Amino acid sequence: MRTSNMSHSLISRHRPLPYAPRPFEAEVLGGWIGRIASRYQMSVQAFAATCELDLQMPDGREWLLMPKLKQQMVGRLAALTRISSQGINEIQTPLHWEGPRTHFCYCARCVFLNPLDVTAPIWRREWLDQSQPGCSVHGDEFQTLPAGRVLACANLEKLLAVVSRHEQDIRFGVMTKAC
Ligand SMILES: [Zn+2]
Repeated sequence: MRTSNMSHSLISRHRPLPYAPRPFEAEVLGGWIGRIASRYQMSVQAFAATCELDLQMPDGREWLLMPKLKQQMVGRLAALTRISSQGINEIQTPLHWEGPRTHFCYCARCVFLNPLDVTAPIWRREWLDQSQPGCSVHGDEFQTLPAGRVLACANLEKLLAVVSRHEQDIRFGVMTKAC
């Protein structure tokens, strides 16, 4: 795991990250941290351990839907990323979205297209809101992935690769739309 070791050497809990993408308003906190970890070619779990961030993931896999972070951790994350605590708090997962779920939703048209930065796909907050009937941008029904496949992904890049395969399977008729 040479790449991983190289990434580790770039990161220190004592100073800000050399590079941290800014969060987007429509993004969810876990997705943003998943993007940062991807940038360093690390799993979210390894990234959190290296930076001594307590992301409240009991088995290390719940990064996309991590519980609301304590303010001390928000402060640490702010120092690490040079993003304001307020900016981080704005994308925290609301308390009532927490808890186990059987599947995760996404909009197939939005998932690879962030209109504010085409090079930076994001996981939109509204996809985690189980009361949301469909995409607020397109009105489309959400596509779904079983929770197990999502939780097995180490970071956002890995998750987007799974989404990409899922979309191909749907296109070629391997699976039917599961919404
Ligand atoms: Zn959409």
